[in-house]
Amino acid sequence: MRPLQIGITGGIGSGKTLVCKIFATLGIPVYDADSRAKALMTTDGILISAIKKEFGELSYKTDNTLDREYLGRTVFNHEERLQTLNNLVHPRVAEDYEGWVTRQQTPYVLKEAALLFEAGSYKALDRIIVVSAPLYIRIRRVLGRDRHRTEEQVRDIISRQLPEEEKVRMADFVIYNDESQLVITQVLELHHKFSTMQMKRTQ
Ligand code: ATP
Repeated sequence: MRPLQIGITGGIGSGKTLVCKIFATLGIPVYDADSRAKALMTTDGILISAIKKEFGELSYKTDNTLDREYLGRTVFNHEERLQTLNNLVHPRVAEDYEGWVTRQQTPYVLKEAALLFEAGSYKALDRIIVVSAPLYIRIRRVLGRDRHRTEEQVRDIISRQLPEEEKVRMADFVIYNDESQLVITQVLELHHKFSTMQMKRTQ
């Protein structure tokens, strides 16, 4: 029996990673789609060949690691090229995720992705959680975490993500990480819900 598949998303600085860490301490496996995408770009033969074919051999250094600087320059500010790169990466991540799910034995699993809605991958998941926090708190958190980023850069990233109201509208569940409600309590409630949902499915 496949585990129930729960997607978890939210804008930059909403606290997705923090929330996922709480689920992980409850023994729930978390697939971090963004990190896996990065990893697959240097380990997946099919993806490496496709990237070299599309963006040139220079996309990889002589030691076979991805030349992030070159690729960044090549796709940065080129919407179409960025889309092409995403179109190469997404199917490989989807396949990697499929394999990962079949190896899990918990009642449910989490798939964490910053652009779950934007990339369309939410459609294959059973339920979606959105982590929500007000804009000013998100900006403050990211500036505190990423010392190399300016407020302007953070606002620019936010402007390219789906607005939070839209995400909340599309969500099945919302975790409010707005520093006025306890996150752990909300996670425990959902953990109980998903564990019993799975039990109902197996009956
Ligand atoms: P990204 O999209 O950039 O990966 P994210 O949604 O995963 O962001 P986190 O990395 O979980 O966000 O949180 C951003 C920063 O804010 C981190 O340094 C985290 O420790 C901090 N943070 C998140 N939630 C809280 C909270 N409730 N109280 C204090 N700090 C928090």
